[in-house]
Amino acid sequence: MHYEGNIIRPPSEANSILLQVTVGCSRNKCTFCGTYQGERFRIKPDDVIKADIAFAAQYCRRQRRVFLCDGDALIIPQKRLLNILTRIEKELPWVTRVGAYANVKSLKMKTLDELKALKTQGLGIVYLGMETGDDVTLKNINKGTTAADMIPMGRKAMEAGFKLSITVLLGIAGRERSHIHAKETGRVLSEIDPDYVGALSLMLIPGTPLYADHESGKFPLLIPDELLEELKTMIAHTNLSKGLFHANHASNYLPIKARMPRDKESTLKLIDEALAGRVSLKPEWLRAL
Ligand code: SF4
Repeated sequence: MHYEGNIIRPPSEANSILLQVTVGCSRNKCTFCGTYQGERFRIKPDDVIKADIAFAAQYCRRQRRVFLCDGDALIIPQKRLLNILTRIEKELPWVTRVGAYANVKSLKMKTLDELKALKTQGLGIVYLGMETGDDVTLKNINKGTTAADMIPMGRKAMEAGFKLSITVLLGIAGRERSHIHAKETGRVLSEIDPDYVGALSLMLIPGTPLYADHESGKFPLLIPDELLEELKTMIAHTNLSKGLFHANHASNYLPIKARMPRDKESTLKLIDEALAGRVSLKPEWLRAL
């Protein structure tokens, strides 16, 4: 397979065929993100993508899922993206689901009918990096969107028939806005009502603007108990009809897997137990991005 730069994928796509159809991220301005630093966003040439699908047809016959890398495959023009999905269906008939990252901009650029056509052609799940529902924090981290934009775009993805997985970031608002970030994120998640929520804990990446702010004393990193309080407030304010709320990423101190609304109260109790020191937290050296 032909890969350029950093290849990342959601944890749930660990066993998927990683088909890189774009390089970098169409935004590439979020202050905490170092994934595609210095990388100019581009769509890979069709012949390279075709060759990779042909390679997968020969050597990836046991993998049932495909993940379209990099940062924002949904931004590919409709006809080209449909052609990629059609080729995957034709050449990798054993594949049961295709996934991709999405963002508010790419969801806005496609009509509901276009998204439905992508769903029909095999795109089954989209992953949306929301980070926070707090508008002040969204501005501070230069996410380029607002809660009022994210809610209809998240709902649009679900109306198109995609499974929707949303990532939020504990600690991203710093200390002063921690509580507001938690409450607003819970509110926006509740309004979208996605299938999956993944909460990660912020880890600073050298070279990013947020790292520099931390070094100069402008941005504080929360201590584990503060992150737990934030997670507790977020979960308390999140009302999902049937979604999974996971905080079991390697960056988190307390692994959580909750089916909402069934496990909400027991999860809040577990966090209280951890805050009281009766449940041990992951040691710092075991945390990773
Ligand atoms: S956080 Fe996501 S949208 Fe922001 S720069 Fe990184 S990959 Fe792009």
